[in-house]
Amino acid sequence: MKEFGFELRVCAWAERHWPPDVGDGVGEGNDDGREATGADGVDDAEVTALVGRQVGTRRRRWDTVVVETTQTKLDERGPFGAERLDSDLLFVARHAPASWAYYRDALPDPGYPWRYVRESIHEAADRGFLETRRDGNRIEIRRRYRYPEWVDRIVAVENKPDLDASAARALAAQLEHDVALGLADEVWLATESTGAEVEPALLEAMPVEVGILAVSREEGTWRAEPVWYPRSLSVDDPGTRILERPPGGDFDASAARFEYADPDWKHGKRLEIAERAYERGWRSYVETMRPDCRHFQVRDPRGPYPWCAAKGREQTAAECSARCAAFEPEPPAWRTRGWPIEGGPGKAARRLLEAKRTRRRS
Ligand code: SF4
Repeated sequence: MKEFGFELRVCAWAERHWPPDVGDGVGEGNDDGREATGADGVDDAEVTALVGRQVGTRRRRWDTVVVETTQTKLDERGPFGAERLDSDLLFVARHAPASWAYYRDALPDPGYPWRYVRESIHEAADRGFLETRRDGNRIEIRRRYRYPEWVDRIVAVENKPDLDASAARALAAQLEHDVALGLADEVWLATESTGAEVEPALLEAMPVEVGILAVSREEGTWRAEPVWYPRSLSVDDPGTRILERPPGGDFDASAARFEYADPDWKHGKRLEIAERAYERGWRSYVETMRPDCRHFQVRDPRGPYPWCAAKGREQTAAECSARCAAFEPEPPAWRTRGWPIEGGPGKAARRLLEAKRTRRRS
């Protein structure tokens, strides 16, 4: 299976079944891994998994991100709107006072010019979670809602359906960076099950802290089974950013280069990642594809997943673009009459995916 389709299956599975059952997997990596009650005391039965695709930082994007939260916490996050809060809005939302105060007295020093804070204040007021008033030249602010601590854990999943030994080695280096930085609470690798025992070589190549999910299809249903459990990473401790790691060997005595990532930076980045996943979900793939093409369909109510009628198969996001030679616009008649859903099938596909995304948040 192509990586894009595989990625969507892993996202759909995680949305329904996260967290994976404890106890089925193999491996000694489980020692300090997840138990039936998570490290934060949230019972697995209460965990709501909010799944995002292609979310991360400027330097590193993960294929699948699972934000573990609860429905109660999602409800508390709801008043801040369906769009993400970026770092500037998060700064205002997290520090806004409960009663009227001059904004420079109420907020900590941002470390950048106050005029940018003023812009964020106006944006926050427009979005409805902050109130403002003027006292002469001074802008006073008061929050309408407390920004909740709604993120329990962040789990990063790298997807690689056809994982052979050389792909495993290449991925291992990337995953080592993730483990050293400790931005996510857990890091997993999802790969398509071969039906055979997991090759020891694959397990050996991976950092022991990384969990492995074997994904398979049984009677039309996709399932993922942990074959190695990850270790929980220290998200509250300083992380190590590996900038350069020389290959070593007889003629290479150069040193590796590192820098530290402090816990405050990590905390802020984790929130930004969670906010991004909240906004995008995993069905936003439609935004980079061509649902306005007459051949574009969505199939399988469990996804839904994209389908190209012209190719007679699932298309990838990369091929379903302006460069596609088989692209044909939706006939205007689909939009004006005859077609049962207002706006034509392209618009209907977008609406369906958006509705599913919204339902997930609320
Ligand atoms: S023909 Fe091309 S643009 Fe149209 S749905 Fe298929 S892949 Fe996408």
